[in-house]
Amino acid sequence: MTTVAVIGLGIMGGPMAANLLTAGLDVVGYNRTREKVDQLVERGGRGADDVADAVRDADIVLTMLPDSPDVEGVVLGEGGVLDSAKAGTLLVDASTIRPDVSVRLAEAARARGMRAVDAPVSGGEAGAVEGTLSIMVGGEPADVEAARPVLEAVGSTVVHVGPAGSGQTVKAANQLIVAGTIELVAEALVFLEAHGVDTEAAIKVLAGGLAGNRILDRKAAGMTAREFTPGFRVDLHHKDLGIVTSAAREAGVAIPVGALVAQLMGSLRAQGHGSLDHSALLLLVEQLSGRRGG
Ligand code: NAD
Repeated sequence: MTTVAVIGLGIMGGPMAANLLTAGLDVVGYNRTREKVDQLVERGGRGADDVADAVRDADIVLTMLPDSPDVEGVVLGEGGVLDSAKAGTLLVDASTIRPDVSVRLAEAARARGMRAVDAPVSGGEAGAVEGTLSIMVGGEPADVEAARPVLEAVGSTVVHVGPAGSGQTVKAANQLIVAGTIELVAEALVFLEAHGVDTEAAIKVLAGGLAGNRILDRKAAGMTAREFTPGFRVDLHHKDLGIVTSAAREAGVAIPVGALVAQLMGSLRAQGHGSLDHSALLLLVEQLSGRRGG
C-alpha cells in the first residue's frame, strides 16, 4: 500500500488528506497545530509529531503549506523532508509558491536521491472537499506520472504543464485571472446595488451570458450577503499577486490590470482584512464609492 505523508492540514490540506484516505491510501499527517492532526486521525489517518516522523516511511510526501519560506523550512530545514525521507521518495508540493523556489527544491531533492514535482491547485476549498481540484504539474515526466494516482485522488483535472516550476507559473496566471475577475464582479455588484437593481435576478441572468464565470457562480451570493468567511484568505492572495507581479516583471510582460488589483488586495490587507475571504475586495469597492464597507 502506498504511504502518503501530508504536511499542512489547513483549509486545503485537511480535505485533500481526507480524500486520500477515501481512495484507500495509507495517510500520515502532520500540522503545526495538533488539533488538525487529531481531526485526520478521527477520519482514519495516522498522526505524526513532527515532519521527520511523518515522512520516514512515506513513498510520497504531499506538502500544502502557506508560502515559499514555509515549504523551504519543511523541505530543506533540519529534520525536514530531505533530511528524513528515504531515497526515492517523491515530494509533491501542492502549495502556491514562487516558481524559482520550486526549481530549487527539485534540484535539492535530486541531489539527495529524491524526486520532486510542483503541483499547485485551483478550485478552492469546495474543490478540495469534493476532490475536483484542477492541478497544474511541473516536473520530469516520469515523476509526474508517479504522482498521478495521488493527484487524481484529490483532483479531477491533472495536467503536466512542463519542467519544474512550470506548475507554479501556470498557477500565478490562474491567480491573476481570479483576482481580476473578483474585482470586476465586486464592482458590478456595488454598481447594481447603487441602482437599486434586484441583485439576485441580475446574477442569474449575468451567469447565463458571456459575463458568466465561476466567481459569479460560487462567490456572488456570499458577496451580496457580506459573508466573507474564508475560503481563500486575502493574505494568501496578496502573496500570490506578489508572485505574479515579480514573475511578470522578470519576463518583461506588462500586467496593468493585474498590478492595479494587486494594489487593491494589498490595501484590503493593510486595513486589517487579511483573514477574510478574497471576495472581500467588495468592501474596498464600497469604500472607494463612499458607500458603507471598509
Ligand atoms: P491554511 O493556512 O488554511 O493551511 C496551511 C496549514 O499549514 C495550516 O494548518 C498551518 O498550521 C500549517 N502549517 C504552516 N506552517 C507549517 C509547518 N512549518 N509545519 C506544519 N504545518 C504548518 O492555508 P490553505 O488555504 O490550506 O492554503 C495552503 C496553500 O494552498 C497556500 O499556498 C495557498 O495559496 C494554496 N491554495 C489555497 C486555496 C484556498 O482556496 N484556500 C486554493 C488553492 C491553493
